[in-house]
Amino acid sequence: MAAGEMTGATEKRSAELKVVSGRDLRHDRTQFTDAREERLFRSLDLDNDQRVLRSDLERILADMGLRRDDPRLTESMTALDAYRAAHQPPAEEPPEPGIPRDSFCTAIRHNILLIERALQGDMVIPDFGEFCGRIDRLFAESLANRNGKAADYIPQLDLKEPELDRFGLSLCTIDGQRHSVGDHDIFFPVESACKPVNYCLALEEHGEDVVHGFIGHEPSGATFNELTLNKHKRPHNPMINAGAIMSSALIKLKDKRENSRDGTLNALEARGWSGARFDYVVERWQALCGGEKPRFSTPVYLSELETADRNFALGYHMREQGAFPPDVDLHDVLEFYIQCCSIEMTTEMLATAAATLANGGICPVNGVRVFNTETVQNCLSLMSSCGMYDYSGEFAFSIGLPAKSGVSGVIMIVIPNVMGLCTWSPRLDEHGNSVRGIDFSRRLVDELNFHNYDNLTGRSRKHDPRISRVRMQAIHVNELIWAASKGDLGAMRDQLMRGTELSCADYDRRTPLHLAAAEGQAHIVEFYIERKVEDGAAIELNPRDRWGGTPLDDAYLHGNKAIVALLERNGGCRGNLSHAEGAGDSVGAPAPQAESHKTAELIWAASAGDLKAIRRLVAQGTSLDIADYDARTPLHLAAAEGHLDTVRYLILQGVRAGPRDRWGYTPMQDAERHGHTEVVDLLARHAGRRKSRRRQ
Ligand code: GLU
Repeated sequence: MAAGEMTGATEKRSAELKVVSGRDLRHDRTQFTDAREERLFRSLDLDNDQRVLRSDLERILADMGLRRDDPRLTESMTALDAYRAAHQPPAEEPPEPGIPRDSFCTAIRHNILLIERALQGDMVIPDFGEFCGRIDRLFAESLANRNGKAADYIPQLDLKEPELDRFGLSLCTIDGQRHSVGDHDIFFPVESACKPVNYCLALEEHGEDVVHGFIGHEPSGATFNELTLNKHKRPHNPMINAGAIMSSALIKLKDKRENSRDGTLNALEARGWSGARFDYVVERWQALCGGEKPRFSTPVYLSELETADRNFALGYHMREQGAFPPDVDLHDVLEFYIQCCSIEMTTEMLATAAATLANGGICPVNGVRVFNTETVQNCLSLMSSCGMYDYSGEFAFSIGLPAKSGVSGVIMIVIPNVMGLCTWSPRLDEHGNSVRGIDFSRRLVDELNFHNYDNLTGRSRKHDPRISRVRMQAIHVNELIWAASKGDLGAMRDQLMRGTELSCADYDRRTPLHLAAAEGQAHIVEFYIERKVEDGAAIELNPRDRWGGTPLDDAYLHGNKAIVALLERNGGCRGNLSHAEGAGDSVGAPAPQAESHKTAELIWAASAGDLKAIRRLVAQGTSLDIADYDARTPLHLAAAEGHLDTVRYLILQGVRAGPRDRWGYTPMQDAERHGHTEVVDLLARHAGRRKSRRRQ
């Protein structure tokens, strides 16, 4: 990742290492560029030559799951195209022109909020590439499941191999991050996946009270096309056939009333009205999908119509019971409902539609509001309780997400405030749900904390992709250590209750106990000892840090006699420190200490050589010249772990070369102790240049 991150910049970077002093980084604010834009520019200016590459920006946007043709980026991409056209030397194969600050900021200004969020990693799934890797793996696991068989009541659904084995999956987050795998661009009939949308359309037109005067909101406990109504002689809910027929009956009913003279339309008018109604439904789907137009399958429609005896029976039964509004034409409604089932889409389109629901009715890829939030809330409630045929209760229990399936093998899944997903695979189980779709959903919530109630459990064993890896480490490790160093026992108890391990350790394997001992927090040390007595061996009183030091060493080093006595009474022992006490130049200048958990994120990123995460933090305005509770800086950790690219990046960004940590050691000494000779050379050259410049 680190290498990939630097590639574009490396092309334009001269082989010579250019050293930039901290002073050079303070750019005068121009008339046009404000501090926020400046941060974004700086995060892309990897070698600090006051130029950025468009390809670096594009790679970051693509890594975030934003498409090159995302309508929310059009103006900026057009402006960058224009810059390239004007500055690209013609003829030979030129290097990509670097873009200076003013031109870059002028170009991105058109779509600055989205670009800022992408550069800062401030999207609902921050480590999107890693997340997609997991999704692809889960998809591959589900692909191996070849159980079930296709629906066979009409020939168009009764697919044979190889079509039978198709499997597609797409997702779209509420920030418009998109990813697809498998057969994601094949059109298939939506079938029952039209039911939630028709319900929303009815709600928008008539409001909740009117609609639910005609349809209940209770699971039926029976199959989706069961010839049954609730005790009020109304369909149980809008997610089964009877209810969906009723939702369909309500769509554009007001128009019909307004355009008719005596409550009925003549034949010609009715035909025009039916066509306009279907156009309207297709147009709403198109809006839900962010602009792509759905198709319509005439063969599916004709076959469905020929085999629709049960739907007709349901319709007549409801009419007999007086369930419909008075001006509804039953045949027209049944045909319309079947037309809606015969609309064809791809998983990509349906995932975007699901994301619009996840986003409260606003399509994430173009920001257009399609449905009111209340409409979507009602729809998701009923998808949760009734969307998966006779398996709805089981799905709500084990998967815990609103979803709707259809007999074509589609499942539309909504993760509220996070994303929409769609799977399509024609093999169905005994309930009529896609076997692979259910298989994938199970794997998804087994691994990721997406079940509706996963949020209740604090830090569960499941992965939370809404938090970046470095932030997770900072929140769950450094916050506890920092609280220990300050003696905040209440904060520590709170963290522990949320699942953080008392024995957690940071990038230098420093633990809360080390810091409590170093900072003289005797009550924290006592707390550890009590917990050890209660929990037995689960708590280690002599953990070793990067240098072999134990908490007792910290207590000795800082002359905390009470803690020395306390630890020694309870089994504390000295480590075999690879640095002698005070051997470093302890009067050296430490870097300013941490102000927020961003410092810890930065140091974790540096220790992993994760330039992508570092660049994001720079875009957020995080200083690279900061230190943690041990006065350790990003440069110390990059040097200790031998990440040459990261060390080079930090130097180019002008960080101070020789900050001293708690023990007086510099990054160069870190690199030496760990035998990273290339890093040592790089740091030595850097220090040498600084000295010679100072002499000049
Ligand atoms: N057109 C089908 C019907 O109404 C839809 C079936 C489904 O997907 O549940 O019978």
